[in-house]
Amino acid sequence: MVLVVPRGEEDHYEPVIIPGPDGTRIVGYRPEHSQLVDFLKKGRRILPCALCGRALPAGLLVTAHIKRRADCSDTERVNPHVVMPACALGCDSLYERGFIVVNDAGRIVRGPRGMEAPDLAPTLDAVIGRTVLNFSDQNAKFFAAHRRRHANLASVPTSQTVRRALS
Ligand SMILES: [Zn+2]
Repeated sequence: MVLVVPRGEEDHYEPVIIPGPDGTRIVGYRPEHSQLVDFLKKGRRILPCALCGRALPAGLLVTAHIKRRADCSDTERVNPHVVMPACALGCDSLYERGFIVVNDAGRIVRGPRGMEAPDLAPTLDAVIGRTVLNFSDQNAKFFAAHRRRHANLASVPTSQTVRRALS
C-alpha cells in the first residue's frame, strides 16, 4: 500500500492506518495542520508573506515550517510559532531549501546554497536584508534550527547533499 500525499509535502505528513469494510487504507494526516493554518490566516483573505512582505491572497501563502517539521518534537509541532506564512511565489521554496536563512536579528541572509545559480541572484536580492515579519523570542530558536540544518547540509560532499535533498 502506498501513502499518497502532495508531491514535495511528504515531510509534513504522518501515515495513519484506517481499517474499513473495503480493506485497510493508509492516509496522510497532519493532526496540527488546520490549527496552525487558522493561527496564521485568522480568516483573512489577504495577508503578508513573512519573508518578502508582499500582501497576497491567502491561497498563495503556504503554512511554512520555520524549523523542519520532521525535526520538531511533539511539543514543537503544535507550537503556533513554529510556522509562518510564506508565499508560493518563491519564498517558501527558497527558505525550505536553504537558499535563504534568517539570522539572530531576524534579518534574511543568503543561505549556504545561495550562490549555486547566478540567475537566482535577483530573486534572492529582493528579500535579502529584509526583517522577517513577526520575528520574536518565540520563533528565533526555530529560525536558528533551520540555519544550523542548512549549514550542516552544506558541509557534506555535494553528492550526499543531492541525495539527501532528493530523498
Ligand atoms: Zn514571499
